[in-house]
Amino acid sequence: MISIKNIVIFKVTSEFFEENGYIVHLDGHEKAVVFDPGSEVDQFLKYLSKKNLIIEAICLTHAHPDHIAGVAGVKEAFPEAKIAIGINEAEALTNPQLNLSTLLGFEMISPKADTTLEDGQNIDFAGINFNIREIPGHSPGHIAYIAKDSRFHIFSGDILFEGSIGRCDFPGGDFKTLISGIKQKLLCLPPDSKVYPGHGSTTTIGEEAKSNPFLN
Ligand SMILES: [Zn+2]
Repeated sequence: MISIKNIVIFKVTSEFFEENGYIVHLDGHEKAVVFDPGSEVDQFLKYLSKKNLIIEAICLTHAHPDHIAGVAGVKEAFPEAKIAIGINEAEALTNPQLNLSTLLGFEMISPKADTTLEDGQNIDFAGINFNIREIPGHSPGHIAYIAKDSRFHIFSGDILFEGSIGRCDFPGGDFKTLISGIKQKLLCLPPDSKVYPGHGSTTTIGEEAKSNPFLN
């Protein structure tokens, strides 16, 4: 009999742009993945220490400053953790012009990527298999990470939100590209697939397919 371990997801919302980061691990497993750590690094570290978890990877959906603010702090606490990001977004990690922090009036950079990910690729971190889907339009190399236990779990960053989508008016953004990427690469997943966005509440693919005004 094959038993699928449950994926456990802990959300941390940072004050900086109310950005959502997540800690993801298998029930009973000693390793974990951190998604898009924002400014509240202490909240991530507190949960990790309470659960006795080691970070294997810092997975980034894209390089905007609210999503990378905590990368240096998490990497300092777990120097072995691999920083992973889409291949077409990696350069922005260390370039404040490309990651738009210069545009927002401050300069922020992150430690550089250890692993770059491509559309369609599968990669294992902390015993969990993640399928990568590149969906640009909010930022040029934005990716979503999809994991599965009894259902799919999508870490969508600023691609898809509850009742909304990521803004497309930044340099490198494109509305049509974003909409077609969401339709082709996310709405094809089963309706009960859970979406963990970079801002706002958790939702499902079924709910968004039915009621998201940008997709209807
Ligand atoms: Zn963003």
